[in-house]
Amino acid sequence: MRSVVKVLPLLAVLLLLAQVALASPQRSRARNRAHTARARSIGAPWHGRLERGIELRESQHIRRAGAYASSTHFFGTAELVHLIERAAAVVARRNPGSKLTTGELSKHSGGEIDGHGSHENGRDADLSFYMMDAAGHPYANPYAFAAFRADGHGLGANAGLRFDDARNWDLVSRLVADPEARVQYIFVARALRDRLLNEGRARHAPMSVLARAASVLVQPATGNPHRNHFHVRIYCDPSDRPACVDRAPYHAWYPGVVPPS
Ligand SMILES: [Zn+2]
Repeated sequence: MRSVVKVLPLLAVLLLLAQVALASPQRSRARNRAHTARARSIGAPWHGRLERGIELRESQHIRRAGAYASSTHFFGTAELVHLIERAAAVVARRNPGSKLTTGELSKHSGGEIDGHGSHENGRDADLSFYMMDAAGHPYANPYAFAAFRADGHGLGANAGLRFDDARNWDLVSRLVADPEARVQYIFVARALRDRLLNEGRARHAPMSVLARAASVLVQPATGNPHRNHFHVRIYCDPSDRPACVDRAPYHAWYPGVVPPS
């Protein structure tokens, strides 16, 4: 009992010292620096720029499609880059050995990129589908995006490939359920959207995840129908607004207050 009595005042002093250290000017300056140094998305995906973009690097779970080997357009906001990293890691945990193949994100400082109507401010990413060979084994090293038909078979030269419903659903369900980055769109062809939602229903995915997936999986009304890749777009982080601009639809999971229209 006597030793407890001695230790308690000592603990109180240590706690006090810890609080003083946390509140020190150096600490708060470091925190401010960390805040101002974060990546920022400015403007709209089709007319914007990116400040201090973060690079999506190749890793244990991520590779860049060979077709983009010479590209330097792999920059995004922290929210987007970390979203992709988290989702790829979950797919790999459920399906050991899986690597997510990515296409382009944005330039280091954003702005226009040849071949994309958006991708200007670090909130868009093109992701390859997970694929299988004709025998149903994971097809591990796609050089480029491959297009798929409604029956899941590859188109043209990729006729021997299959759309991997299971792993693509794992990816989509993780992207839409992410607690930090909030997904507005995953552009994909209507027939592949149907395959993904059927997969989710067959696996008894939570209704909330199915509902989110049904809302964000969209075939664009015009232009590229997205038969050969997912295009993921996330909403502006609230701390980037109002310089960062979103446009409707504002789903129920929109972060923060919906901007006035
Ligand atoms: Zn795209």
